[in-house]
Amino acid sequence: MISESLWIPLPDGYGKNFEVVYDPQLAVRRDALLSLGRDTFALIVRNQTQVDEQLLDAYPNLRVVGRLGVGLDNIDISACRARGVQIISARGANAVSVAEYVLACMLHHARFLHRADDVVKKGRWDRSAATGSEIFGKTLGLIGVGDIGMRVASRARALGLTVMAYDPYVMESSVIVQDLSVQMSTLDAVVTNADYLSVHVPLTPATRHLLDKKRLSAMKEMSVLINTARGGIVDESALYETLRDHPQRMAYLDVREQEPPRLDNPLNALTNIILTPHIAGITEESSERVSNFILRQVEHLIRGEQAQGIV
Ligand code: NAD
Repeated sequence: MISESLWIPLPDGYGKNFEVVYDPQLAVRRDALLSLGRDTFALIVRNQTQVDEQLLDAYPNLRVVGRLGVGLDNIDISACRARGVQIISARGANAVSVAEYVLACMLHHARFLHRADDVVKKGRWDRSAATGSEIFGKTLGLIGVGDIGMRVASRARALGLTVMAYDPYVMESSVIVQDLSVQMSTLDAVVTNADYLSVHVPLTPATRHLLDKKRLSAMKEMSVLINTARGGIVDESALYETLRDHPQRMAYLDVREQEPPRLDNPLNALTNIILTPHIAGITEESSERVSNFILRQVEHLIRGEQAQGIV
């Protein structure tokens, strides 16, 4: 059962030895999804399908959940474990795409080509209005340096930024510290020193609203916040107030506390924020990589073969 879009066509001949139901609408048609569960032994989801006790009750023969991506906040991991259901995630498979998105935000902020373009097309050759800044020499703060954070760090180092990071699980002997020269520090030091602050931790009870009013207020006056991790890590109401009261600051949000957000969400009214619909990890290359990986590994598990990406 595949309940969300693969973003690529289902490969010809996939599932020769078992029936495949591929319906991306199932993620939002919960009753239909539950009613199809009895004979399903593999379920492939993205981030909208809630794999919870209710779903697991309706899928008594489920053996594996394949996650088209990385975050597991829509999957009840302990409930799966208790029932012997294995989870496979596409760790790292879209990390380059997310890292490049973060770089795109930083460069977009520094050079704002779209505004210069707008001025020229309106007939004004206004070179002073398009004076940008360099990201060279600035400080990038990372919250979380796993698969994505470390790729952001290596790219930022190549562009001449100082990189600081908070991640209590990274050891001093790590490649991140020794080879990428990332300065590991406390969360508060990273937040207060960053010109660019980028979030790369999973959403868990420990990270929910990690960036609250106090921490958001402590950021530098001209700083830029980039969140591609999960909406719940940044307190959106606090962010709204902070950006409203500090027009020099900027934020780029790819992920939201509620997805999709309501049209009357107050963030929509701000000019110092750029909002995208959870697309940081989605490129042509990553979609192929993620979907092919999950389809292949789930098939291995179904056949009783060794699989990669098991959580
Ligand atoms: P990862 O597991 O490789 O790295 C996460 C890092 O966070 C790890 O180094 C871990 O030590 C650290 N961490 C965990 N809990 C922490 C805590 N309480 N405080 C500080 N650090 C903590 O994951 P990843 O592949 O780098 O992805 C990170 C997140 O990005 C995912 O969980 C997912 O939610 C999100 N994501 C979003 C998109 C998108 O399209 N916007 C795409 C992929 C992933």
